Formats: sequence, C-alpha cells, structure tokens
Amino acid sequence: MINLELPKALEDVKTGINQVVKEVFRPIARKYDREEHQYPQELEMFRDAASPKPRKKGKDKKEKTGPPPEFGENMATVVSVEEMCWGDLGFLLTLPGGGLGNAAISAVATDEQFDKYAAKWAAMAITEPGSGSDSGSITTTAVLDGDEWVLNGEKIFVTCADRCDIIVVWATIDENAGKAGIKSFIVEKGSPGLKLEHLEHKMGIRASDTGTFVFKDCRIPKENILGSSEVKESKTSAGFKGVMKTFDNTRPLVAAMSTGVARAALDFLREKIEESGIAIDYNKNLNNVSAIEKEYYEMEANLEAMRLLVWKAAWMADNKDPNSLEASMSKAKAGKTGTMITLKCCELLGPMGYSEEYLVEKWARDSKILDIFEGTGQIQHLIVARNVLNLSSKELK
Ligand SMILES: Cc1cc2nc3c(=O)[nH]c(=O)nc-3n(C[C@H](O)[C@H](O)[C@H](O)COP(=O)(O)OP(=O)(O)OC[C@H]3O[C@@H](n4cnc5c(N)ncnc54)[C@H](O)[C@@H]3O)c2cc1C
Repeated sequence: MINLELPKALEDVKTGINQVVKEVFRPIARKYDREEHQYPQELEMFRDAASPKPRKKGKDKKEKTGPPPEFGENMATVVSVEEMCWGDLGFLLTLPGGGLGNAAISAVATDEQFDKYAAKWAAMAITEPGSGSDSGSITTTAVLDGDEWVLNGEKIFVTCADRCDIIVVWATIDENAGKAGIKSFIVEKGSPGLKLEHLEHKMGIRASDTGTFVFKDCRIPKENILGSSEVKESKTSAGFKGVMKTFDNTRPLVAAMSTGVARAALDFLREKIEESGIAIDYNKNLNNVSAIEKEYYEMEANLEAMRLLVWKAAWMADNKDPNSLEASMSKAKAGKTGTMITLKCCELLGPMGYSEEYLVEKWARDSKILDIFEGTGQIQHLIVARNVLNLSSKELK
C-alpha cells in the first residue's frame, strides 16, 4: 500500500538541504539573475554531490518480490529537489555534473559507456528549430562512415550548453523510419564539426546557460550511440523508448522543482502577511478570515496537491510500477499551479511584489519554464488523455 510519510532520515536530509540553500543559494540568487551567463563559481562545492552514483553492473532484472521498499532514490530525489528549488531553481539547473543528459546516460548507457561518461556533465539536445513538442519529427541526421558517426543539424535551447562536457544528441539514422530511426548519441565537446552558436537571453532561470549547437559533419566514435543501431519497423526503437523512459523519471523531478519555487513564494508571502499583523491561524472560524487569508489557504492546498502527485509518481517509480500517467499528471498540475501561485504571491504583495527588492518577481519568471520544458502542459494533458482513454499517439494527436 502506498505510504507517503517521510522517514526521519529523509526529513533530516530535507532540513540539511534547506539550511545549505538558505546560506549559499539565496544570498547570490539576485546576483546571477542580473549577471546572466556568468558561471556561479560558488556552486563548485556541490560538484561531487551532483555527480551520478556508481551503478550496479549488469541489467537489474530483479523481480518485484516481498514487501515494497520504504523510500528509494526517486522519492529521495524529489524531496531534495523541492528543497533545492526553494533555494533557487536556476542554480539547481546548473549544478556542476548533473544535467538532463546524465539522466539519459544513467537510464540507457551500457556499463562501458556509463563508466566512461557518467562523471561528465551531460546536456541533452532534442529540440530543433522545426521540432519541439513533437520530438519524433527531428531532422538532425547521423550517418555511419567507417568507425564514426557523422552528425548534421541544429539543436536549440539546450540547457547547460556552455558548461557541459558532453551532449546527448538525438538524431535520426533513417529518415524514412520515423521514430524507429531516432537514436541518441554522446558527443564530446571539442568534437570536430560541433559549434556552440550562441547563448539565449531569457525571461527567467538566468543562472542557467541555454544555447544553440550546430553540427556540421560532426564526427564521433561509432561506439557513442546509446542503445542499439538497429532500426525496427514495427515498434519504436530502443533509442526512442530509452529516452521516453528518461522522461518518466524526470517529469516528477520538474514537478518537484515547481513545488519548491511555489513554496518559496508562499513562505515569503506568509512572512509578510504575518509581519503586517495577520496571523495564519487554522483554528479561526472561516467566517472571520480575510480575503488575503482565503487566497493563502487556497494556494497552500494547491501546493499540497502538487506535492502529493509528485510523491505518488516517485513512489511508483521506486516500487517499479509503470508511472507514465502519474509522471505526466504531476508535471501538468505542478507546471500550471506553480506559475499561478508565484504570480498570485507577486500580486498579493502589492507593488513590492513587482519590485526587484524581493525575489518573488524572479520566482514568478523562473517558474514559467517548468510548464514548458520536458513537455509543455498541453503535451502532459495529451499524454494523460492517451493513458486514460487507452489511445496511441497516432490515435490522439
Ligand atoms: C529555458 C529552456 C530550456 C530548455 N532546455 C532544453 C534542453 O535542455 N534540451 C532540449 O532538447 N530542449 C530544451 N528546451 C526546449 C523545450 O523542451 C521546448 O521548448 C518544449 O518541448 C516545447 O517545444 P517548442 O518550444 O518547439 O514548442 P511547440 O512544440 O512549437 O509548441 C508551441 C505551443 O503549442 C502547443 N502544442 C504543440 N503541440 C500540441 C498538441 N499536439 N496539442 C496541444 N498543444 C500543442 C505547445 O504546448 C506550446 O504551447 C528548453 C526550452 C527552454 C525555453
């Protein structure tokens, strides 16, 4: 049976992270919001902690036997991520050594690839000028030439573009095979034919470096393909499936990020409401609560709903239950509600909520990305609908 009560050890981790981000992230959050594209050197202290843990060798074929575990890695991660994003989302996204590409490598790399690349900072490049939500329509190509793959194409809005060591790049090896032809490749910085074209100026998460890569006859070793190079006509290939598997693990993480940012704004609002003499008192008769208290309680309830969906998706992942539906539900709810809560907090703080004097306006700008990347809110709704109605992506577009 599902049990979402955090064990003491995890509560202690949460408290510890909260202290660290309060002391390290918060004081420099505004600085790196203003100094976009500057690397926050202060984050180097987290390099070891952010790097992936060593992997058990061989495929984990263990059957689900006996009682389910208490809490596994997924739950510990979502709890930690919420806490870190309470500190600052932009910094979490640029922790040295922990990119989205690292999640793909952990999920689908061979043991040899894992040993070689897991400790490197890996970005993930899927999006192209003509392909975003419909990732099956990418046009970057990879052609085998002797012992090398030759990549051609353009990847935009890549997180950690400047600071990463390697990039996990999606490309098709057979343009006529649709999704079955799509594979992911590990491209090292400095590979011939790879160019970081430019970095983006963004609305929020300015501490995170986002950029465009151009691949012009970019050559990488043959063994840098993730998964098999076999193209199967009937089903989506291991490559495409592999990355979809990555998303089931990372969408609850993005939802946890949203919970953290929203909680930061809500905690701050509460502090300010209480400073102005209004006590948040759950014993008060509802007939006597002010308009601002009602708004606060509503947001608090929404925050709790976000978190419960995230924890359910993570708990299922830890217990090896397929969680594609729950992962998308958590991201859909958290992306939308996080934006709503942070903006509402700006509003309720009056003109100061719009001022750079407080971090709330930054949290509202930062929060919006969580409803966009790793699948927009609309795409999450689509995935939920497909799961509930038992329809394929061809049947419900
Ligand atoms: C700061 C930032 C960082 C990013 N980092 C990365 C990264 O590291 N790696 C990477 O590969 N990409 C990254 N992205 C890209 C991001 O994942 C895409 O922007 C996102 O997937 C949406 O794709 P798109 O922008 O092409 O929008 P589009 O797919 O063009 O969609 C535009 C709008 O149409 C809606 N829409 C599209 N299809 C449907 C449909 N079938 N039904 C209903 N509505 C639909 C979308 O929800 C959206 O609102 C990043 C983007 C940003 C802004």
